[in-house]
Amino acid sequence: MRAKLRFLTTSLILCLCAGCAVNPITGEEELMFMTEQQDVAIGKKYAPEIEKQMGGKINSGSLQNYVDVVGQKIARVSHRRSWDYHFVALNDDSVNALALPGGYIFITKGMLKHLTTESQLAGILAHETAHVVARDTAVLMSREIGIDILLAAVTSKSTSRSVLTAADLTRQILGLRFSRKDERDADLAGLDYMVRAGYDPNGMVETMQMLQNQQQVRPIEFFSTHPAPANRMAYLKARIGSRYRNREGLRTGKEDFRSAVLERLKDN
Ligand SMILES: [Zn+2]
Repeated sequence: MRAKLRFLTTSLILCLCAGCAVNPITGEEELMFMTEQQDVAIGKKYAPEIEKQMGGKINSGSLQNYVDVVGQKIARVSHRRSWDYHFVALNDDSVNALALPGGYIFITKGMLKHLTTESQLAGILAHETAHVVARDTAVLMSREIGIDILLAAVTSKSTSRSVLTAADLTRQILGLRFSRKDERDADLAGLDYMVRAGYDPNGMVETMQMLQNQQQVRPIEFFSTHPAPANRMAYLKARIGSRYRNREGLRTGKEDFRSAVLERLKDN
């Protein structure tokens, strides 16, 4: 009885401290051990580390601005609009995209090179934005890495368990793998954000197709942390058919993408 009481009290304290947060995408309550402020602090702390590990920012102000403008259009129609979002293109040849808690989103040169339209870029950024909105990365990081280690690194307080270097932690972050449900939720919420932002949702399906084609040439980094695209394409196509089929005037942006990204990458 006493043990049970202690358990209940501990649970209650945990719940009061950390709170249960509603995932705005699913409407479900989730136990959340980090506050939104801690999400932002962790994102801010690790964004420079991710940049360092992945070749730094691509050295083109106009390309960075273009990627950020597309990303901000998505963020402005997402379920979590008040956060400050940062969209950055990294000078790394892997084919990858990732999100840190608090709104720090990255896409690699290797991924950009294989895209052909702005709506495809919007598809990738929308999927990553949805992970940020759902706080998927925050949940996974606190579970897999440990909240005490993460927060010790942020506040620079050293504890016996916080002996991991920033580079070690960054490697762990790059290896985090979401559940299939989280991925599906991010795909479908991302699809909705794309359309709300005025983009042709077929861009997301095309991106999956491209990744699948590339996977046949060599293993794609994106798939070390994401499920294979075949079944994702099926549910995306079904959603487009049922919900967005009659939308007109949605943007593809092939020419803009070519001049703002593909031409710039030739110079880099
Ligand atoms: Zn994902």
